[in-house]
Amino acid sequence: MSLVEVTGLSVEFGDLRAVDDLSFRLARGGSLALVGESGSGKSTAAAALLGLHRGTGARVSGAVRVAGVDVEEASEEEIRRLRGARAAMVFQDPLSSLDPYYAIGDQIAEVYRVHTRASRRAARARAVEVLDRVGIPDPVRRSRARPHEFSGGMRQRALIAMALACEPGLLIADEPTTALDVTVQAQILDLLHALRAETGMGLLLVTHDVGVAAESAEEVLVMRHGRVVEHGPVDAVLGSPAQPYTRELLGAVP
Ligand code: ADP
Ligand code: MG
Repeated sequence: MSLVEVTGLSVEFGDLRAVDDLSFRLARGGSLALVGESGSGKSTAAAALLGLHRGTGARVSGAVRVAGVDVEEASEEEIRRLRGARAAMVFQDPLSSLDPYYAIGDQIAEVYRVHTRASRRAARARAVEVLDRVGIPDPVRRSRARPHEFSGGMRQRALIAMALACEPGLLIADEPTTALDVTVQAQILDLLHALRAETGMGLLLVTHDVGVAAESAEEVLVMRHGRVVEHGPVDAVLGSPAQPYTRELLGAVP
């Protein structure tokens, strides 16, 4: 069984069909990049994997299975478990995912506690451990810092640490490098590579940047207006794109 199985997924917001008949699979430990220009439905599709459209008024049809959980049919309890140990998401803007008033280590510890019911002490220790793992220097001290005390790259590392805390089988990263300058982008991509190699987790990377996709994933799925334009191994799709739209996207790379 695949880690992710998306079959005929459509997501509608009122009259807008943001995702239109999307199907793909991701094997355990595999990596797939969803690529397309802004507004093509990438984030909407990624959010569906964690059941984030449930109860929002968005109309979802088709089937989404993640780690064996039918995301549209599952109970709230199953969804809670899914978002804990099995699948985690890193969003584009680290500041929108972190509370400005609380220490970063406490925020990671809290997420870990919600999902594992560990003691406060064990959760604090886990936070320091994952901050260390993602390359935050002096993690004991830095775990007491609040988000504004971190640089953009460090905040993105902290969010990745938060996502890793419960050892997810799937990491969904939505534009994880978009807000960062080029050197820091490369460091974050290297980190994601290293973590995948070490943990065997699957990676679904969402990006408008074909260069990032080429470096980060084994497979690429190109989306446009919510539909799949092209899908296959990264070398085939980006090396000799069959579709004019993919060639255009490649041409847009600086
Ligand atoms: P991408 O991540 O590829 O930039 P999105 O998935 O964010 O694209 O958006 C796809 C389309 O759906 C866009 O037209 C966007 O404006 C629209 N959209 C996204 N979320 C919502 C929402 N919650 N309500 C209404 N429209 C939305
Ligand atoms: Mg997006």
